[in-house]
Amino acid sequence: MSGAAASTSEGGTNSHGEQVVVVISGPSGCGKTTIVERIVSEQPVPLVKAVSATTRPPRPGEVHGESYFFLDDDDFAARREAGEFLEYAEVHGRGHWYGTLRSELDRAREMGAWSLLEIDVQGALAVIDEFPDTLSIFVRTPSEDEYERRLRGRGTESDEVIAHRLETARRELEQADRYRYTVVNDDLERAVSETRNILKDREAGRHAG
Ligand code: ADP
Ligand code: 5GP
Repeated sequence: MSGAAASTSEGGTNSHGEQVVVVISGPSGCGKTTIVERIVSEQPVPLVKAVSATTRPPRPGEVHGESYFFLDDDDFAARREAGEFLEYAEVHGRGHWYGTLRSELDRAREMGAWSLLEIDVQGALAVIDEFPDTLSIFVRTPSEDEYERRLRGRGTESDEVIAHRLETARRELEQADRYRYTVVNDDLERAVSETRNILKDREAGRHAG
């Protein structure tokens, strides 16, 4: 993928005129939210995290327009039909839909920032297909056992849900080579530092070979 062409030349670009879309994904529980929170607060490059739309109900403390845009099934379907989504997917097979609104990329561009998408693997592959120059980062744990420990340690899912997530994770790991980079989240500081370096390299115009 070295020397991939710039895809647009409008605002929200780096010094080489690229419209930069960063996608961070990987199996649930691998630590992507933790890494993304760190990166967004540090801003090693100007980044705006896209607020996703979802049909799942809000959890306590979640705010519409900040955590997600919480839509009902009809509203989500209407927007999908109208082509408002860059990508969308049913995540975790429980009838809940998630998607990235194209308007979120526009919002980042208007702010002169890159757009950062933290989305599931199906959605990430759709974005990579549409924008081959996507700065795609697959986050994974060092081993499957460690992955299971983290899912259990987080304490947010039942045994049945964990078994399903492990099965999904095995399938998702097979897609890792579709991404430009893989970050192994063994030590959090090291993983954040590696992610930071990937972004800085892209800003400097260096591409993964
Ligand atoms: P994801 O967003 O991929 O589902 P989270 O960021 O919620 O994953 O992380 C899952 C759990 O693993 C959380 O309890 C988090 O604190 C923990 N975690 C994240 N990174 C590490 C790491 N490098 N070492 C140990 N635990 C971690
Ligand atoms: P949660 O319901 O726990 O907030 O998120 C569940 C999963 O949905 C996470 O794995 C997250 O990456 C994924 N997700 C969140 N937003 C989007 C999105 O816009 N598109 C896709 N494809 N997945 C998303």
